[in-house]
Amino acid sequence: ETKPSKKRRVLLKLSGEAFGAGSLGVNPDVISALAREIAEAAKTVEIAIVVGGGNFFRGAELSQRGMDRGRADYMGMLGTVMNALALQDFLEQAGAETRVQSAIAMTQVAEPYIPRRAERHLEKGRVVIFGAGAGLPYFSTDTVAAQRALEIGADIVLVAKNGVDGVYSADPRTDPDARKIDHITYQDALQRGLKVVDSTAFSLCMDNGMPMQVFGMAPHGNVTAAILGADLGTLVSN
Ligand code: UDP
Repeated sequence: ETKPSKKRRVLLKLSGEAFGAGSLGVNPDVISALAREIAEAAKTVEIAIVVGGGNFFRGAELSQRGMDRGRADYMGMLGTVMNALALQDFLEQAGAETRVQSAIAMTQVAEPYIPRRAERHLEKGRVVIFGAGAGLPYFSTDTVAAQRALEIGADIVLVAKNGVDGVYSADPRTDPDARKIDHITYQDALQRGLKVVDSTAFSLCMDNGMPMQVFGMAPHGNVTAAILGADLGTLVSN
């Protein structure tokens, strides 16, 4: 038996949206800035990351345009791997040690997803990036973030948002009375119909007592602060 490390361990969810599109597919400036924030926090906190792929493909959208849903979802998962590699590159430039683990076998590019090995990497101070989602169509990377957090024993799921800094009582873009919520229970969030992450991710966390912190990526420094444990955005817990 291995001794569990006493360090804080977090699962950071980064949506593909954050990686920016543009003519290159990804935005190196954005990823580089994010990577520097993560590398800074990795000096003291064990960090695993689930990356989305919405900047490339979303399976549901492609299937609405006539593609088979399963095939479209696999394209979505492959998109997350490209983001994972981009993030790995900039993390290493920022001085962090990293490993990418993919839920779809592609051994030239990434290790296979092996949860116990991922934990060993974390204990050695490596940032572990999980690509290819769950390897299963009809799942989202939000759900994968919840599942991976549970499986590797993370203390919390940190959901970094683009363009919003937490959970609001209503949609802040349309309702002037919308107010940011500092802390809410999963039960209350469900009852009030607040969309935090998708419902599968939400119920996995709720049923297994995994807390979730939803916060804004901006301004620069927020991602480091959230990883280190700052009280930013909204805490959702039981
Ligand atoms: N996807 C999937 N199974 C998974 C994770 C992702 O099929 O376990 C596909 C799905 O098509 C999804 C796409 O990959 O639309 C990109 O992931 P997601 O939409 O979660 O990315 P994000 O919105 O976070 O950028």
